[in-house]
Amino acid sequence: MRNAALALPSLCAVCHDWSQARLCDDCVQRHAAARPRCANCALTVPTGTVQCGACVSSPPPFESAVAAVDYAFPWSRLVVALKFHAAIDLADAMAGLLARAAREAPSPRADLVLPVPLSRERLAERGMNQAWELARRTARLLGVPATAHGLSRPLDTPRLADLPRESRTASIRGAFALAPGASAGIRGRSVALVDDVMTTGATAAEATRTLLAAGASSVQVWVFARTPAPGDA
Ligand SMILES: [Zn+2]
Ligand SMILES: [Zn+2]
Repeated sequence: MRNAALALPSLCAVCHDWSQARLCDDCVQRHAAARPRCANCALTVPTGTVQCGACVSSPPPFESAVAAVDYAFPWSRLVVALKFHAAIDLADAMAGLLARAAREAPSPRADLVLPVPLSRERLAERGMNQAWELARRTARLLGVPATAHGLSRPLDTPRLADLPRESRTASIRGAFALAPGASAGIRGRSVALVDDVMTTGATAAEATRTLLAAGASSVQVWVFARTPAPGDA
């Protein structure tokens, strides 16, 4: 019964046509084509450009970043569905796109994949951490170990999306800590940090600082969707 159910076609989450996968090939080609992105922060850049202007003048603490898509139609709707409506059936398809982006990036191979953690309160409210759901599937596709017990988030910071851009860095400071017993697994490792969306990069930067302080040899960031720069949407 179970195998029969798996073989059934499903509806594409974007165009709602029948498909063999939760995202049909047409929609992937139309809406998720690889675009040139800043090697540091994954903002889209003109072809032939390696770094965006912001990263040239003030590089983030993470070494590199990849994004599967821009946080825009139709992907923003899927991200919201995964995050707030626990649409876990989307996670495999989204992780497939993220694994493709990570595989094609020039960054060195990661030793360990970690999700950006949620606070205990937020995890209880949502019932799952969407970053972990993406991280573990992406890691499996790439053959890299993953753990949900790398970073913890003792502080329940305000939702950054509710704050103006300029106050996000201050509000996230000190939000992360190492999970109990995680330090030996992080020291000397090249870590890939996974999140569903990167907007200003303040969250990824703060998590990166925590990992580097714990002895990680480098941190790269893998996000499913990158918010375009203001005015560049
Ligand atoms: Zn489709
Ligand atoms: Zn950049």
